[in-house]
Amino acid sequence: MSRSRDAIGISSVGDSKSLIIVLCGPGGVGKGTVARLLVEDDPSLWLSRSWTTRPHRDGEPEDAYYFVDKSEFMSMADKGGFMEWAEFLGNLYGTPWPDSLPTDNDILLEIDVQGAMQVRERFPDSLVVLLLAPSKDEQRRRLEGRGDSEEHIELRMKEAAKEIESAKEIADATVTNDSLDRVVGEISAIINDRRVSRSGQQ
Ligand code: 5GP
Repeated sequence: MSRSRDAIGISSVGDSKSLIIVLCGPGGVGKGTVARLLVEDDPSLWLSRSWTTRPHRDGEPEDAYYFVDKSEFMSMADKGGFMEWAEFLGNLYGTPWPDSLPTDNDILLEIDVQGAMQVRERFPDSLVVLLLAPSKDEQRRRLEGRGDSEEHIELRMKEAAKEIESAKEIADATVTNDSLDRVVGEISAIINDRRVSRSGQQ
């Protein structure tokens, strides 16, 4: 019997005891750094590596994404190979189903708000954390630091306002990235609270 990747993915993730944690929010709020620190502090978190059609940025780690062209991405999407995927400012981004999940790990996804909404719908028990920048000026400064064009930065700032509105409707918690140590501590505490309440239900 042949099973689609979707069926395999849902059963391996849906049946597992893993908590799915979604760190979402607009660009420039520091999601990537916060996700990395959360995983460094908590070895039981497993950070998913996304696929993207966006070109690799100068200075970006080679393994920041699995960089593919559009046809490779769409053939993966057509096979149901993504847990969620979305188009963001002309590029495609997707979370592949984990091939095999380490049994004791919880899954951390660092994705945009459209993706977070798909995960929330597919896995209602997931924990969705919305990360915000301390101010618009700070968010713009972080986007500028990546070397994107002024036009792209403007688009991202406009997109951010819409994303925040949508994300607030699905987020379990909203946290502000005013200090890295503080926000990582706050999110870790939110994750641990959820783990405790789930273990009480099992
Ligand atoms: P960037 O191009 O700046 O790396 O990412 C653009 C946006 O795409 C960010 O908000 C980032 O969190 C989001 N993103 C990264 N990976 C994924 C993914 O697998 N799925 C979705 N939906 N968004 C992603």
